[in-house]
Amino acid sequence: MEIKKGIGVSPGVAIANAVVLDAEEYRIAHKTVRDEEIPAELERLAQGFEASLAEINTLRTTMARQLGADIAAIFDFHHGVLSQARLRDQIAALITERHYAAAFAAREVLRGYQRRFLNMQDHILRERVRDVQDIERRLLRQLIGQGGENLAHLTDPVILVAHDLTASQIANLGRTKVIAVAMDAGGLTSHAAIVVRSMGIPAVMGLKDVSAEVSGSDTIILDGTKGLVVIRPDNEMLTEYRAEEQRMHAFVTGLIELRDKPAVTQDGVRATLLSNIEFPYEAKTSVEKGTEGIGLYRTEFLYLRSEAEPTEEEHYQAYHSVIKAVGEKPVTIRTLDLGADKYTQSQSREPERNPFLGLRSIRYCLQNLELFKVQLRAILRASAEGDVRIMFPLISGLMELRQAKIVLRDAMEDLEEMGVPFRQDIPIGIMIETPAAAIQIKELLREVDFISIGTNDLVQYTLAVDRGNERVASLYTASHPAVLRMLRDIVRSATRAQVECSLCGEMAGEPMYVLFLLGIGLCQLSMAPNDIPEIKKTIRSTSVAHAARVAKRTLTFDTDRQVTNYLRDETRKISPELL
Ligand code: PEP
Ligand code: MG
Repeated sequence: MEIKKGIGVSPGVAIANAVVLDAEEYRIAHKTVRDEEIPAELERLAQGFEASLAEINTLRTTMARQLGADIAAIFDFHHGVLSQARLRDQIAALITERHYAAAFAAREVLRGYQRRFLNMQDHILRERVRDVQDIERRLLRQLIGQGGENLAHLTDPVILVAHDLTASQIANLGRTKVIAVAMDAGGLTSHAAIVVRSMGIPAVMGLKDVSAEVSGSDTIILDGTKGLVVIRPDNEMLTEYRAEEQRMHAFVTGLIELRDKPAVTQDGVRATLLSNIEFPYEAKTSVEKGTEGIGLYRTEFLYLRSEAEPTEEEHYQAYHSVIKAVGEKPVTIRTLDLGADKYTQSQSREPERNPFLGLRSIRYCLQNLELFKVQLRAILRASAEGDVRIMFPLISGLMELRQAKIVLRDAMEDLEEMGVPFRQDIPIGIMIETPAAAIQIKELLREVDFISIGTNDLVQYTLAVDRGNERVASLYTASHPAVLRMLRDIVRSATRAQVECSLCGEMAGEPMYVLFLLGIGLCQLSMAPNDIPEIKKTIRSTSVAHAARVAKRTLTFDTDRQVTNYLRDETRKISPELL
């Protein structure tokens, strides 16, 4: 038996035999052709492009129907690359001028594209290299006439183990017996992860060498929630997980029944559970999970779609589709949180030395006013259609907030001049995610309609621990007494000022923190849509009076370890399945 830890990118447990997919690397020889063979190679190339484009079109249509336009849009990029005359011309030139065979010429040119993506600073753009590999494999398969491993013939459920699957390969799993996916490569934000998550297939990525360690037909347990893969489990482990699988099944069925019930405590206090989304299609999933609105829409993900900046119309269409999915429920649109690790580094000539402390988020927007106003106009336009709220991220002082409001006023004037309707009194809020904002909370509260505590960043800036650096990951915890006291003070100030206050960091979706948060008086939580049922169950299993006692005790501890142990124990007491 061997247990491997990776990144759980899609939750759920599966137990089945493995199918190992060989790395689909085609061996392409350095082959040249004679003069008289050139026309045939060019013809082969043209047919290869056509067949690849036809395949992508089919895939795009199926994906749009099954998973929505956003997932399908991933393949727009593939289509766009293959439709470029320049790409085709470059490959054709290698065939005519250097007498390369079509497959070899295609590989040479596409490898050049991949190198360019690999050299990009921005990790999101760097991940695009996988899309180019995906395109290369598809085209080469056409040019050399090989089919990949055929998974369509499987008759029993299997767990697919591979070195690296592309988004296209994952998208095709819907029609197979694959019930879970384990991969050597990949991470949370890769397109492959986004697609597998939206298909609801449990998956663990970043397992480094799992494909070398598993043989076909080995039994595997995959736990996408914990990010674990157990290879050849012993009987004890199998029995434990089978029982766990059944418990989870019963638990999940119970949770589904909770969908239409309110998040109300046993002493009658009503909490509001909202969702965090990155893509418009998630608004629909959120409604299915029983959300009461969108508490955080991370709009910078619009930049994932293409390398060009989104237009005002593209912003607007995205917001419009979210509003359409949630109806009357509130939608809090966060303005662009670009910078740090997202997008801007690859755009600047000199990458910043310390990007998390650099030109990110609201600071970036205030230095790029046109880009900011494009988004603000789109949000305002959408405000005429639903309960839209606007939220500025990473505010670290009053001047920043005031400047952002001035730009918003400008955007309003633009729309007024054009006679475009919008909501004049659109609620304006800020994220509290810097210690400066937490300490100056009273002044900030006077100038906003609501606040939302972004603990992902607040923890990183309070503890001076990079949230994305695995070397210091053990130091990054919301259980640190300094963080908890800060949260108590923010909530207390907001309550006194009668300003709506929510929390939208990952902490909101962890059952372990529910008692503490309720106990300090926080009743609005915004989380990943999948977390809503569990958090609702936790809230319904306790009372605010009890939570207040737990919070009070929590605040007496000196170390994060004491806090974590205590909160785990208390949560287990009210609902043992939760942890
Ligand atoms: C946060 O910082 O807690 C937050 C919700 O924003 P993001 O994770 O997008 O930085
Ligand atoms: Mg943040």
